[in-house]
Amino acid sequence: MIAVFKQAGRVLARIELRNPERLWVHYCVVISAVVILLFGSHLLDRVEAKNGHQASEAIEMSTQQLLHAQKVVEAATEFVVGNAADSRQLDKAIVHFQDLHHTIANSGDLPAAVQQRLFDGAAPLYQDIRRFTALAGHIVQATGPQQMEALTHLQYQYLSGGLQQELTSQTSLFSDQLAIDTRRILEVRLALFFFSAAVLMAEAFWIFLPAHRLVRSTFRKLRRQAEMLRKSRAKLEEMNAKLVHMAGHDPLTDLPNRKSLTAFITNAMADKSIHESTLLLVGLDDFKTVNDTLGADYGDALLIAVGQALQSCIDEEDFVAYMGNDEFVLISAEPAKVIIARIMASLDQPFMIKGRRVPTKASIGYLTLGPQTGGPLEPVADAGVALQSAKSAGGKTARQFTADLQTEQDCFQNLQIELIDAIKNGEIEPWFQPQIQLSDGHLHGAEVLARWRHPTRGLLSPFHFLPAAERAGLMIDLDHAVWTAALRYARAWQDEGIWRPCVSLNVAPDTIADPHFLERFLLVLQRSGLEADQVIVELLETTFIGGDDDMVSINIDGLAESGVAVELDDFGTGFASLSRLAQLPLTGVKLDRSLVSPLPDHGADSIVRAVLALAAELGLLVIAEGVEETAQAKHLDDRGCAVAQGYGFGKPMPANEFQSWLQVNVGKAVNINQNLVKSA
Ligand code: C2E
Ligand code: CA
Ligand code: CA
Repeated sequence: MIAVFKQAGRVLARIELRNPERLWVHYCVVISAVVILLFGSHLLDRVEAKNGHQASEAIEMSTQQLLHAQKVVEAATEFVVGNAADSRQLDKAIVHFQDLHHTIANSGDLPAAVQQRLFDGAAPLYQDIRRFTALAGHIVQATGPQQMEALTHLQYQYLSGGLQQELTSQTSLFSDQLAIDTRRILEVRLALFFFSAAVLMAEAFWIFLPAHRLVRSTFRKLRRQAEMLRKSRAKLEEMNAKLVHMAGHDPLTDLPNRKSLTAFITNAMADKSIHESTLLLVGLDDFKTVNDTLGADYGDALLIAVGQALQSCIDEEDFVAYMGNDEFVLISAEPAKVIIARIMASLDQPFMIKGRRVPTKASIGYLTLGPQTGGPLEPVADAGVALQSAKSAGGKTARQFTADLQTEQDCFQNLQIELIDAIKNGEIEPWFQPQIQLSDGHLHGAEVLARWRHPTRGLLSPFHFLPAAERAGLMIDLDHAVWTAALRYARAWQDEGIWRPCVSLNVAPDTIADPHFLERFLLVLQRSGLEADQVIVELLETTFIGGDDDMVSINIDGLAESGVAVELDDFGTGFASLSRLAQLPLTGVKLDRSLVSPLPDHGADSIVRAVLALAAELGLLVIAEGVEETAQAKHLDDRGCAVAQGYGFGKPMPANEFQSWLQVNVGKAVNINQNLVKSA
């Protein structure tokens, strides 16, 4: 039994609406069934009522007929025995009797078997009634003994002849028929009941149960969806908050970005809440070096660490933003001196990055905020001018923005514009500084150094215009102009038999990385008519900081293959890797002035000796720069340095002066500090 229930449960559980959109079909079918049911039930009621009525009428009439048969017998008896005055009573009884018979026979709707059994011509009842009415009629017409005989026959016919019995059985037949009809109707009712039950079941299992399941599962789904919606809405809100944060923050340092800074200044300016506050632009002096030597990972980590350090330098209501590159902006309510001291002290400590001590230096440009006339970032641009000035002054310093600085900056920009024409118009001149062989004091060669003969500002040294040329991307053209002019002079001195020249040409990092460098350089050399061994290219050590540059390597290899010597300038000031340097086709190194000037100081001496030993190992010529004193020259000579260059032997000179110098000194030993020329 339990198993049956379980099975039924399983079947019920499987009942579901495969196609809920067709539910209306189910409803239509069931409603049609209900309508049929109601209609059937109504029909049944009508049939039952009609049948019952007809049957009871038939029974009634049948009983009446029996009574009238009796009345006929009584009237006949009264007519014959009681010598009734006339036969009207009897006639009337006969007519009634016959009428009843006709009424019953024609009442219709009697089953054929009953019709046949009662009213067929051959039916006993029919025969008996015919005979009975004939006898009764005969009594009316007969007289005397015939009349009496007919009465006897009539009574006999009624009582023993079978009429009374036939009429009684007619009544029973009608009663039976009523019972049969009633039973049939009951059966139909039962069938209707089962049909109703089936319809109800169909309704239950075909509509309500699946519909209930559907509604329940829809509710569950809706609840799940509502939950999911709630979760995804929460996620969306979270993402939106992230997006808003991202739009206003730098992804690396997570500090507010330029956009946030603009909004902050705009709002604060509007309510004057940052008037008298200090705006500082902090720039890292050596960030490029960290990035180039240690890699971008260290650079990024350093920016994050600096951002955090700066945040810890300010109060909560102050503002710090990352401007990109190596620059941060701070807006603080504290006096400039206080906040600058704190920032400098904080950044003075080397940062521990990935277990490595990374020292850094910072420069600061700052100003006090006041009523603003320009855009919100104008104070930042002004602080940028001050920062630039701080960096130009050697870094690790703070500079306040002033109108003079702005003028300086404007000059710098003007200089850049003027430089373009200056290069084209030959205003950049090559000057020459002698290089002396320490062993015999003879002229070894000359370094070509650029000077700008500015039409209004007079003679400008590289210090005044090279930074502008570098930032304006003009170094390639400038170098090219200097080589061309220098080699033209050199060729002239050769042609005039004054000197077989050997000139060192400075090549900026931008220039050596130029894809057209080699062809342009060799073309200048070829046009000068000098041999490849008469020119030397000086490359700064900073050219090699920051890993391999294919173009630089290709150009240097090209120079070496063409027989042009390559020397490393300012050796000892950069951080180029020694292994990288060892791979370069170098012919010499130039000891930087900063290592030569302190000589014969013991510390400087040990570095100089180490460099000389390394150079000897690599087979490189060493040229000492900035030799001013006899003692320095002697010291270098004693340590095995081959060539010296410096004011002690000769300052850089314009071509005509250098020509005179050559005419005096070529082929002779140049003594230190005896040939001082008054040039720059
Ligand atoms: P550098 O290549 O290291 O040139 C040597 C610099 O030291 C020159 O400065 C020179 O005048 C100066 N100097 C030489 N001997 C002494 C000395 O005994 N004492 C002192 N105090 N200074 C001395 P200058 O001419 O001002 O050039 C500065 C730098 O500008 C050069 O340094 C070089 O890197 C760059 N430069 C100059 N001309 C050119 C050029 O045509 N192209 C490129 N790319 N760079 C150039
Ligand atoms: Ca040089
Ligand atoms: Ca140098």
